[in-house]
Amino acid sequence: METKQKDIIRGGQFLIKETLSEDIFTPEDFSEEQKMMKEAVIEFNDREIIPHKARFEAKDYALTEEVMRKAAELGFLGVSVPEEYGGLGMGFVSTMLTCDYISSGTGSFSTAFGAHTGIGTMPITLYGTEEQKQKYVPKLATGEWFGAYALTEPGAGSDANSGKTTAKISDDGKSYVINGQKMWISNAGFCSLMIVFARIEDDKNITGFIVEYDKDSPNGITLGEEEHKLGIRASSTRQVFFNDTVVPAENMLAGRGEGFKIAMNALNIGRIKLAAACLDSQRRIVSTAVQYANERKQFKTPISDFGAIKVKLAEMATNAYVGESASYRAAKNIEDRIAMRQAAGNTHQEAELKGVEEYAIECSILKVAVSEDVQHCADEGIQIFGGMGFSEDTPMESAWRDARIARIYEGTNEINRMLCVGMLVKKAMKGHVDLLGPAMKVQEDLMGIPSFDTPDFSELLSEEKSMIAKLKKAFLMVAGAAVQKFGPALEEHQQLLMAASDILIEIYMAESAILRTEKNAKRFGEKSQKEQIAMSKLYLYQAVDIVEKKGKESIISFAEGDEQRMMLMGLKRFTKYVNYPDIVDLRNEIAEKVKSENKYCF
Ligand SMILES: Cc1cc2nc3c(=O)[nH]c(=O)nc-3n(C[C@H](O)[C@H](O)[C@H](O)COP(=O)(O)OP(=O)(O)OC[C@H]3O[C@@H](n4cnc5c(N)ncnc54)[C@H](O)[C@@H]3O)c2cc1C
Repeated sequence: METKQKDIIRGGQFLIKETLSEDIFTPEDFSEEQKMMKEAVIEFNDREIIPHKARFEAKDYALTEEVMRKAAELGFLGVSVPEEYGGLGMGFVSTMLTCDYISSGTGSFSTAFGAHTGIGTMPITLYGTEEQKQKYVPKLATGEWFGAYALTEPGAGSDANSGKTTAKISDDGKSYVINGQKMWISNAGFCSLMIVFARIEDDKNITGFIVEYDKDSPNGITLGEEEHKLGIRASSTRQVFFNDTVVPAENMLAGRGEGFKIAMNALNIGRIKLAAACLDSQRRIVSTAVQYANERKQFKTPISDFGAIKVKLAEMATNAYVGESASYRAAKNIEDRIAMRQAAGNTHQEAELKGVEEYAIECSILKVAVSEDVQHCADEGIQIFGGMGFSEDTPMESAWRDARIARIYEGTNEINRMLCVGMLVKKAMKGHVDLLGPAMKVQEDLMGIPSFDTPDFSELLSEEKSMIAKLKKAFLMVAGAAVQKFGPALEEHQQLLMAASDILIEIYMAESAILRTEKNAKRFGEKSQKEQIAMSKLYLYQAVDIVEKKGKESIISFAEGDEQRMMLMGLKRFTKYVNYPDIVDLRNEIAEKVKSENKYCF
């Protein structure tokens, strides 16, 4: 799909601009090259990861390392790395689909893969000097070395810029001496390189360094024992201690005090890739759950025939479909913006950095939504398995444990919820996204008399699209009024931010599914998208409920009297269907399809 420069929507603008279905990328748009990549990754996952699950669960860290090497042999570690540094130089969508399809076998491998290819490698490809890139990136892309990312400390987690690790310049100015303690460092047990963040003197912001690590010549680096974790058991997670570790001055990444920026931008990429890494788990859980439900009989009936189980199957499949729709939509926006910047003369490095930064809001939205969906999916998977779901001998137990971490790392979901709204408000203040104009317009609309005409919703998904437009108004009304009321102090009103982020998240996710389905119905025929239409409608119905609930609690918390009454009336108007969908029917339709195919089949 060729995208003209003017067509590329900016990050956060989805809220104020109508996106046409033909302008979004969907998994059905994968190129031949992307399809081949997907098949290769699935085949690798089926061969090298899934059959060895018991060993991963038994904390076989050596296996994780061995499979990482095998992934490297096939080029998977360098999918997004430019060819001149030993990678495959493929686009952002290909990177996403690699993370997606390599991740369903075990969270252990998926974390090792993500920590290496994302936060372990990207800071150098994005911020490194030419010399740094030449020296380190080929080693990382080919799996000769593995990377880790050492930001978190015992006293500095979410408040990542508050770390106490220090970097002191040597008397001759040729090196820095690092002292401090990092914790929860993925891949620490087998890495040869760490991106380490430390503070120089009393700098406000931390600084990033590339630190080599050789077990036989440890340079003051010692590792704690492997952590005993709830899940991702064969992902190496250790503390790292730096005791007078000497790092050449030329290994500083970007400039002094630039570390926090590096850390945050690396996390933006990490977040959207983490969303991708939660997708195939959901597909696999749905498939495993329906296979069990079709076979397991109680009361002389396959349990998949019970309405209570159908609800679960339908909702699990729907969330997977929606997460996939939104993840690839955003991934292509990023890919296009990178291409646009390169065409305008930016280097690949600058283009990639700015391209991802542009969609930081969407990256946070996806991280939160998809990490919560995979957890819910695994939880319902256990429930469908009943007592067997609680047993280590069935796949749901580890799927549930492995899914849990996704809500914690790459910035907790609380932090990401606050970030996505905070970033949107900042973009509005910078003039990148005009929130104020549309918010004022919504307020004017509220003063006017609502139209009593019956709209024509005969076109496929037209009521759903009109509903999305109304939900956007609901967000603008609530968030606009909150910004007016609190100004910069809004960031202290966390419950409000959390509620606003829930509204924002639901809008992006629901809209993505509707647009994907519409696009596919137009080109492949409505009949072929019967269940996808049902999933889009089902998701939207639930999104509307969330918007209503969160909008109401927000309005009541900060508005009073007439203002409160007017806004509550507006919210009612913005969350009202003309024709309510029968969600029981929708769920049955989706569940019947999954049951008859005996797998996730969308
Ligand atoms: C298995 C695993 C692997 C990891 N891998 C890495 C790695 O490779 N490299 C690395 O650097 N780090 C890694 N981490 C660390 C991870 O990124 C942090 O655990 C995470 O950022 C949260 O920090 P914390 O654990 O200190 O929790 P805290 O920051 O102490 O948070 C505790 C709770 O308080 C909430 N909270 C904190 N601040 C606020 C606030 N301002 N407002 C509202 N709520 C707040 C959080 O959302 C959370 O619910 C890993 C962690 C785990 C468990």
